[in-house]
Amino acid sequence: METRIKNSYQTFVYDFIKFDILVVCPNCSKLAIVKTNGFSFLNKNDSEIKVICTSCGYNKRLIDKPESILTASRNKLMTGRYIVVGGAIDPFFYLPLWYRTNFENNVMWAYNKEHIDFLKLHIEAKLRERNGQELANKSLGSRLPRWMNSKKNREPLLKLLNELQNKK
Ligand SMILES: [Zn+2]
Repeated sequence: METRIKNSYQTFVYDFIKFDILVVCPNCSKLAIVKTNGFSFLNKNDSEIKVICTSCGYNKRLIDKPESILTASRNKLMTGRYIVVGGAIDPFFYLPLWYRTNFENNVMWAYNKEHIDFLKLHIEAKLRERNGQELANKSLGSRLPRWMNSKKNREPLLKLLNELQNKK
């Protein structure tokens, strides 16, 4: 299994892949769930990963998805499945995320409620910062994209995250 990393924003989002991921059902466009079975990059067991829609009954296992060619040389062919982190899609089936919205020219997205909570916590902490007080987790801010850290964006971003969290 290979991993593609699109930019630095993705470095912390790995933490949220272990939770179930909310996606748009490819069959009925309602909410579907990617069961990640506690997936982590240390324990790359993907045999239990599947997507399930409770509205229309759509379901598919990752192991039933065709593999793609990862590397090919004259006498060696390696096949597998890419895990794509980023781009507002789930890493396994590449379905559009349920929690995605536009903010100015950026796409704000989250894998699940845990991920939204994390983003809210970060932005709220930034709002509370006074007199140059540092955040407990200093490195966190540098791992988020600049527009998420921008002072003028904090209030509208929080509002947007709250709306996203209540999306039905
Ligand atoms: Zn469905």
